[in-house]
Amino acid sequence: MVSSDVGMMGGAEAHEYQYLTAVGEDHVVVCKSCGYNANIDAAKHKLSSVSEPTSQRVEEVYTPGCKDNKNDHHLKNVDPRSFTGTCVDDLSLPTEQSLCVVCDSPLSQSRGIEVGNIFKLGEKYSRLMGATYLDNRGTENFLVMGCYGIGIGRTIACIVEQHSDERGIIWPKGIAPYAIHILALGNKTEVTELAESLYADLQKAGLEVLYDDREQTPGVKFGDADLLGMPIQVVVSKRSIDAGGVEVRLRKESNSKVVPYGAVLEALKAHINVGD
Ligand SMILES: [Zn+2]
Repeated sequence: MVSSDVGMMGGAEAHEYQYLTAVGEDHVVVCKSCGYNANIDAAKHKLSSVSEPTSQRVEEVYTPGCKDNKNDHHLKNVDPRSFTGTCVDDLSLPTEQSLCVVCDSPLSQSRGIEVGNIFKLGEKYSRLMGATYLDNRGTENFLVMGCYGIGIGRTIACIVEQHSDERGIIWPKGIAPYAIHILALGNKTEVTELAESLYADLQKAGLEVLYDDREQTPGVKFGDADLLGMPIQVVVSKRSIDAGGVEVRLRKESNSKVVPYGAVLEALKAHINVGD
């Protein structure tokens, strides 16, 4: 969670939930020493030590057509720290040389994707709308307001970014569209019958099941199952039946195990109940 600009919502302060990733669109400033962090748009920072003052004398240079308090002249070797004045706004963005405003440690920068945000609106809108409540002493007070938003699509994109390999998505069990993906390989009657009854039994047991009964080659079905990334694949094939049951394979692992049909429901439930 990083500090952010309140933007058009206004209010006292705002934070964003940033998922740090090299492909992120936002830049986030982080202090690894004290934990200060902020979106670069809202980040406060200190400049690191300025270079040594120039020892050269200030000189007047002839610059035709330009003006620096004197027509056709500019000054050279000016030390900016000799200027006096009042800074009225935060004008600079942090750089790799910037220091933390809290603890003076070097700041580092990361890229991130904003997946959510939260705004402390305070009484900004309740005062405008006259939204009040009576407290237990009968005094009228303005409602204190806040609001938040979560980007569902962005969150899913970040999860896929983090949970995938070269073959496709590996859904964490908690948010997988389906826990189980049944693949029926080949068109032998015994395979189709076993796959159909497995599909029915698992649904009856309340499990979320995707059933691939397309007439496609095993290669296509395995490729699609890996791409879609359901956590558990159950393969029904002539080979698995000859070996005594169905083949259970976890998407995040490469090995598989043949489980007798009578034990498959309990085995799948056990996999689902184990954390990711
Ligand atoms: Zn710090």
